[in-house]
Amino acid sequence: MNKKEEKTLHKFAEPLGMSVDGNNGVIYGEYEGYHVYLTRANNNSYSFAVNFSLNKAGELPQQDEVKRVVKESKDIIDCVIQGYQVVYTLRGGMTVAKTAEKVGPSLQTITSFLQQLGYQDACALCGKSDPTVSLYSVSGAPAILCDDCFKKQQEAVNIHAREQGNVKENVLSGTVGAFLGSLIGAGAIILLGQFGYVAAISGIVMAICAIKGYELLGKKLSTKGIIISSVIMIVMVYVGNRIDWSISVANYYTDVDLFYAFRILPDLIREGYLEASQYYGNLAMVYLFTAIGAVPTIISAVREGKRAQESYKML
Ligand SMILES: [Zn+2]
Repeated sequence: MNKKEEKTLHKFAEPLGMSVDGNNGVIYGEYEGYHVYLTRANNNSYSFAVNFSLNKAGELPQQDEVKRVVKESKDIIDCVIQGYQVVYTLRGGMTVAKTAEKVGPSLQTITSFLQQLGYQDACALCGKSDPTVSLYSVSGAPAILCDDCFKKQQEAVNIHAREQGNVKENVLSGTVGAFLGSLIGAGAIILLGQFGYVAAISGIVMAICAIKGYELLGKKLSTKGIIISSVIMIVMVYVGNRIDWSISVANYYTDVDLFYAFRILPDLIREGYLEASQYYGNLAMVYLFTAIGAVPTIISAVREGKRAQESYKML
């Protein structure tokens, strides 16, 4: 999540005496004796999903029982149960401030309701209520677990990560993938160029197709893969742009075919038949947009790889 979103979450968390985990994008803490974390119920509104993990005298929570609070408050709109996990959805306000005003009282309503019914904080996996129950992050997702269950989960994640780590990057296949992807990008540069569009979209298409192409066929995107994909992109942007201009030249001069136009293009620029500033200006634009497409694609690919392995105690 970005810094701005994280800042917004802090505005909700502070009045509740809770914290924000930027990796998971959640608000979390202890509230009236319950470990709880809040996730945005949907991205367009300030509606929150409040996650509890509960047992009653060691038993699983009863659907009809824990759901009753939804009828008691108009700000609590839904309740979903999965094993020991109970998730309430809160109604969002129009603004951050309006929503922040409502979250606290809603949490108060839910927790005192749960206390009255005798529900206890519990591990989401084994349902045990003991002092080791706390908030953890397991491969990028928050979870309310006891110490033992967290260790088991972590072990499972480690095994998975090790298996992932054993997947060998196939540089040759990756290079082929990046090349095939870059052909789509070059196609976009030529096609959109012929329609007279500034090549903004085609630069982005080039970047995404080349990098994803490498990842898909190479099974992994290492620094080496990023460099190879980048070199292919740089070359193919140049080639695509030059073909685009050659087509225009061949269309204009009836006695010149495409291959000849491609070959003599530098001469045409040098001798002033083509406007050098226009040619290089256009090329620079495609490079710029390829970079704009490449940077977030690479960052998300690298982050995705890292995030999957992260597990830690949040509280
Ligand atoms: Zn447990």
